[in-house]
Amino acid sequence: MRAKDLLCPHPEGLYCPPGDFFIDPVQPVARALVTHGHSDHARSGHGAVMATRETLDIMGLRYGEDFAGTTQPAAFGETLHVNGVAVTFHPAGHVLGSAQIAVEHGGMRIVASGDYKRIPDATSEPFEVVSCDVFITEATFGLPVFRHPPAEEEIARLLKSVAQFPERTHLVGAYALGKAQRVMRLLRDAGYDRPIYIHGALTTISDYYQSRGIDLGRLEPATVETGSKGDFADAVVIGPPSAFQDRWARRFPDPLSCFASGWMRIRQRAKQGGVELPLIISDHSDWDELTDTIHDTGASEIWVTHGREEALVRWCELQGIAARPLNLVGYEDEGD
Ligand SMILES: [Zn+2]
Repeated sequence: MRAKDLLCPHPEGLYCPPGDFFIDPVQPVARALVTHGHSDHARSGHGAVMATRETLDIMGLRYGEDFAGTTQPAAFGETLHVNGVAVTFHPAGHVLGSAQIAVEHGGMRIVASGDYKRIPDATSEPFEVVSCDVFITEATFGLPVFRHPPAEEEIARLLKSVAQFPERTHLVGAYALGKAQRVMRLLRDAGYDRPIYIHGALTTISDYYQSRGIDLGRLEPATVETGSKGDFADAVVIGPPSAFQDRWARRFPDPLSCFASGWMRIRQRAKQGGVELPLIISDHSDWDELTDTIHDTGASEIWVTHGREEALVRWCELQGIAARPLNLVGYEDEGD
């Protein structure tokens, strides 16, 4: 079987003709396989959804229990069949429950990575290398300039600033699913044991992480109503980036704006966003993780999507690996 007969780009997303299903479709379809809970990959309104237990739970929390006609959980490593096509979910290391999906039929195995990272993250199952004929890789940070420093070093810089400016509230912008919980966990692993104050938009998912055994320590609502403004001096407050434009952010004493994102590597971007303390913490692979992974899968062909396709395609060609951009539309990851 030829690879393009097993998976091919459609306007709705990546389509498998023999299995009659889509992977991460951006429009409602009859049958969807979903890699992870970020909103551009996991949409509501599909007829049937197959995903990991965690991804299904997260979709239910975000969209309501009726987000799909029917749901089917896929355990990591368990091979299921969809219209005769074998599909297996493997950990992607991106956020809790995130999966790569291996699709196998007629002697051809394609792995759709979804979003992934290789570096250790206590809030996500570790990435697993899956050998395949064709590897579909994301390329959010697919330029050699993107090399993420160890997240622990970034958290150490945050804690140093907290110690240095005890009269100021450290307001940390982090996406609601994955990044926020990772920052909380990194703070705990660095020995920070005071309550962490969180914006209401983070409560449901953070509680869910805790219910799945990921200890985030004591989390308190970051609402000034529950105390006086001065209570938040010396505090670490985490909120979604969207809340930083709100009245909410101005309630805190002399807030020091921080933002946890791989994009903080670009100094100009931090400056434009008014970020005083940029923290380079990413849930996506950096350049080295992308190129290492391409080698590790042993794939003879690479399809590149979600970001800087051209540089990675060119790199593959220089390595003698066939590669092409997939040009899927509609993905703008909410968790960088
Ligand atoms: Zn994502």
